[in-house]
Amino acid sequence: MINDSKVPEIYGSLVFSDSVMKEKLPKEIYRSLKKTIEEGNDLDITVANSVATAMKDWALEKGVTHYTHWFQPMTGITAEKHDCFISPQADGKVIMEFSGKELIKGEPDASSFPSGGLRATFEARGYTAWDPTSYAFIKDNSLCIPTIFCSYSGEVLDKKMPLLRSMEVISTQACRVLQLFGDSAVTHVTSEVGPEQEYFLVDRGCYLKRKDLRFSGRTLFGAKPPKGQELEDHYFGSIRPRVMAFMQDLNKELWKIGILAKTEHNEVAPAQHELAPIYTTANIATDHNQLTMEMMKKVAERHGMACLLHEKPFAGVNGSGKHNNWSLATNTGVNLFKPGKNPIENKRFMLFLAAVIKAVDEHQDLLRISVASAGNDHRLGANEAPPAIVSIFLGDELTSILDSIEKGCEYNCTKANTMQTGIHVLPDFKKDTTDRNRTSPFAFTGNKFEFRMLGSTFSVSGPNIILNTIVAEALSEFADRLEKASDFNKEVDALIKETVIKHKRIIFNGNNYAKEWVAEAKQRGLLNLKSTPEALPYFVSEKNIKLFTKHKIFTEAEIHSRCELLLENYCKVISIEALTMLDMVRKDILPAVYEYGKMLAGAAKAKKEIGIDISDDSEVALAEKLGRLASILFKKADLLEKTLISAGDKNGNTAAHAMFYKETVLAEMQEFRATADELETLVGAKYWPFPTYGEILYSV
Ligand code: ADP
Ligand code: MG
Repeated sequence: MINDSKVPEIYGSLVFSDSVMKEKLPKEIYRSLKKTIEEGNDLDITVANSVATAMKDWALEKGVTHYTHWFQPMTGITAEKHDCFISPQADGKVIMEFSGKELIKGEPDASSFPSGGLRATFEARGYTAWDPTSYAFIKDNSLCIPTIFCSYSGEVLDKKMPLLRSMEVISTQACRVLQLFGDSAVTHVTSEVGPEQEYFLVDRGCYLKRKDLRFSGRTLFGAKPPKGQELEDHYFGSIRPRVMAFMQDLNKELWKIGILAKTEHNEVAPAQHELAPIYTTANIATDHNQLTMEMMKKVAERHGMACLLHEKPFAGVNGSGKHNNWSLATNTGVNLFKPGKNPIENKRFMLFLAAVIKAVDEHQDLLRISVASAGNDHRLGANEAPPAIVSIFLGDELTSILDSIEKGCEYNCTKANTMQTGIHVLPDFKKDTTDRNRTSPFAFTGNKFEFRMLGSTFSVSGPNIILNTIVAEALSEFADRLEKASDFNKEVDALIKETVIKHKRIIFNGNNYAKEWVAEAKQRGLLNLKSTPEALPYFVSEKNIKLFTKHKIFTEAEIHSRCELLLENYCKVISIEALTMLDMVRKDILPAVYEYGKMLAGAAKAKKEIGIDISDDSEVALAEKLGRLASILFKKADLLEKTLISAGDKNGNTAAHAMFYKETVLAEMQEFRATADELETLVGAKYWPFPTYGEILYSV
């Protein structure tokens, strides 16, 4: 248990934060660094030298002897390479040293990180470069310095560099628009993100006994348990002591490294939980979410549990997602998506809203691609997560405002609805005008947009690169037009109206899980990219290459390489899953079935020997049934193996390769699994080689 009064003391204690810098750095150095962080000014080497020394001294005070450039390659997780501060001296002694040069630049051998064909292995050198906009912190007794990661020739190899670029781009374009509104005090606009993280906690003993969980993150076999989530008794239920102890420990670890973990509760599925932090800049939120996922796994282990972050660890049970709450804030402290008391009079808000509507409609494909993965394909559209169709939920008030703008009629601002409880001792309270539609993939929730299609394992970098870039593009088109207008106010009105008329098809306030929506969306001409191999080819379309190169987020080569990489990753994930299934069936499941069958046959034989009539014997019938199913399973294993071999590489056509994995390999895996799951329901518990769904889901 943490003593409440200790929280402020713990919070940020392992972060080289703003307040630490203010205390440790000479005044002018601190001021210069702040300018770099807040206004994007160039970084001076004298500043870097001074910061490096202060960082090292601070780290040494905390007993830390190593540092690492901490970066986010395309693997989706973070990477680090630790160096000691140690530096030999002429007299044979050592001192602890850390220079500005070492702070600014690192040169990890990058040959083993995926680049999607961007870089040949002989050009192994990669660079990491300090990102001063995300604070350094201490983890595993090392000073971790957040960095970007690029190749010798400057190609982007990570998830941070394009995110930082997209943040600059949206700031520039938003400022252009704000200038036109006469907002001259605004010099910078930041995209702010609060990611809600879902996860499962299961007993470590169960986890270690499941090869599928260990190798692929999800169960590849498992018959439905007698009790799943039917009674909906887990959602927001009281938190069990073991989970509570985990959450408290996790919070403490996160607070220490400056992560504002705030909300936690049980989710829909048994063993499923959620954590939400307080939002911060998109860049820091991305770093923090990566760290949160890492910490969840570590702390779970400490508590004898395993944290499952896969999008669909259990078939037939809700999977896990991540909600990316996103907004734009000015350096003067204004949230640009705050509608105010009377949104229709808040033209600035209406214009930024129009920009989002236009962006989402024009770039449905990119938003879909930003959440595409083999794991997330199990969720999107599976009646537990938003569908693969992108649409925006705005709520009744905003929708009727847009309606009145479109029709050119008066909008009567209705007073905020008050919830009357009818009970005197309870206060009445204001209802949110944006109601709580949980089925929408992209919902306006009062003062931010909530992008709900992300899978739980995702880095939030990708989706925010896309959000920032597409909204920046819409704002830049708006600014181009408004800068030329003779009557600004009139032009803004016209622009909002035109945008609403042109893009209103993307707005949908109904139930996104309903079958009817699929048909309606089709009629509206909205994209429905059901799977990763269907979605990814859109990445390299002419429209998208133009968009990314215009704003200098990615070069054309970088887009192609990223697309290749994602497709390759899709194939690899499914291949690992299929190989794991073969291993489990041949090494564990079939032997268990044989063993059980042998026991049954032995029992029948013994009965016969003492003269019992076994012509209608259940042992015999069951042994026969198991034998038949085992033969089928055995044959399906051979078939799946052949299919995997025939997958080849489709002559280097990665899109075709991925499609083969989806259409053929995945389909066979389903069939394979069905037989094994049927066997699980027939084989005695003592014989079955793996913990069952029931055992895993209720193991904590
Ligand atoms: P819910 O489950 O209803 O969506 P939560 O409280 O679990 O609500 O999560 C809301 C998330 O949205 C939190 O991470 C919060 O910090 C974040 N958030 C709130 N306001 C903003 C904002 N203006 N910009 C970005 N994120 C925000
Ligand atoms: Mg949410």
